[in-house]
Amino acid sequence: MSRPLPRVIALANQKGGVGKTTTAVNLGACLAELGYRTLIVDLDPQGNASTGLGIDPRAIERSMYDVLLHDTPLEDTIEASSVRNLFVAPANLDLAGAEIELVPAFSRELRLRQAVDAVRDQFDYVLIDCPPSLGLLTVNGLAAAQEVMVPIQCEYYALEGLGQLLRNVDLVQRQLNRDLELSAIILVMYDARTKLSDQVAAEVREHFGDKVCRQVVPRTVRLSEAPSFGQPIIAFDPTSRGAIAYRELAKEISGGPA
Ligand code: ADP
Ligand code: MG
Repeated sequence: MSRPLPRVIALANQKGGVGKTTTAVNLGACLAELGYRTLIVDLDPQGNASTGLGIDPRAIERSMYDVLLHDTPLEDTIEASSVRNLFVAPANLDLAGAEIELVPAFSRELRLRQAVDAVRDQFDYVLIDCPPSLGLLTVNGLAAAQEVMVPIQCEYYALEGLGQLLRNVDLVQRQLNRDLELSAIILVMYDARTKLSDQVAAEVREHFGDKVCRQVVPRTVRLSEAPSFGQPIIAFDPTSRGAIAYRELAKEISGGPA
């Protein structure tokens, strides 16, 4: 799954709670650990990627809202995280207004693309954490990326809504961004104790073949605890199963150390 650098990757799935942010933060941290300069762009008004990386939402001076609505350079929003090589362009609830405020804006679908283009040479990986919708924010994320990666929960209804997402990816690809491709499906919240997890994983592999990452991410409490400490799993609990899984995933996606 390795490709030429820099790689701009959108983590998307219009369903909430499926592991987009957890994957953006932890895959990003593991890529940074491998030596890749990595930027996480928080495109969700919930700002979970920002707080999960230790950013205090009240202390954010310039955010992705200013980038999308006020032409603030992306570079001016970027903050370092506690992990070497890992940076974040933060968001907070201001961004909730962007979905509507962008509607009448000039080149409203391409705002993020223009902003990312200006910094992409400074990074090896740019991971865009999309919100749980298919609105203008996600369209901006898809228009800015070359790749879209879709986390899928190994649970009931995992595939529900996927057709809608893929049609949108197709639409953005045809209308806005010919470079865009679905590059990976990431199976997350895998529970080895349930048959269902295996069934879902098998079904997804049947359908998407080698687009599905070999490494699956297990369901573990440690992964859900780490964000409240403002840390990626490799800092919070470096030897946990979640840390090991995201490290392996980062190697699989990047092809190894930088
Ligand atoms: P999304 O960004 O798609 O809304 P999140 O990454 O925020 O999803 O995950 C939703 C919830 O599930 C969060 O509370 C998160 O901590 C938890 N979570 C995500 N991945 C795992 C996992 N592999 N094991 C256990 N909990 C997880
Ligand atoms: Mg999220």
